[in-house]
Amino acid sequence: MSILADYGCDEQTYIDQAKQRESVCPAGCPWCGHAGGLIGHGYYLRKAKGADQAYFIWIKRWFCKNCHRTLSMIPNFLLPYRHYLVKVVQAVMTAFYESEQSWKRVTASCAQDGTPGLRTMQRWCKALAGYAPT
Ligand SMILES: [Zn+2]
Repeated sequence: MSILADYGCDEQTYIDQAKQRESVCPAGCPWCGHAGGLIGHGYYLRKAKGADQAYFIWIKRWFCKNCHRTLSMIPNFLLPYRHYLVKVVQAVMTAFYESEQSWKRVTASCAQDGTPGLRTMQRWCKALAGYAPT
């Protein structure tokens, strides 16, 4: 399971701080609800794509001594199960929904180098449409 954590910085600052940053331990396990049973369980490396470069980001993990499950703390500039940074996805959503641009214009403004691909952007809009302002 992943939970979003606000580290109060952007992706580059987060990377620069590496593992030196303090990760606040969640009060309870989201799996079993047990309080105070989470212990640090290292990190894993996750690749994240920005508009013009890729980042390799260390993700903090916690282990529950009660239910033996793990928990990942995803910085809030990433989305669980998505490769691209939130700001890339947000730019596409804004262009399509708020500015009502055609897919041709969205592609021209948000995917200059061919990434993200059109089908990826369309998939985001379909999956996240419920979160777009109306
Ligand atoms: Zn647990």
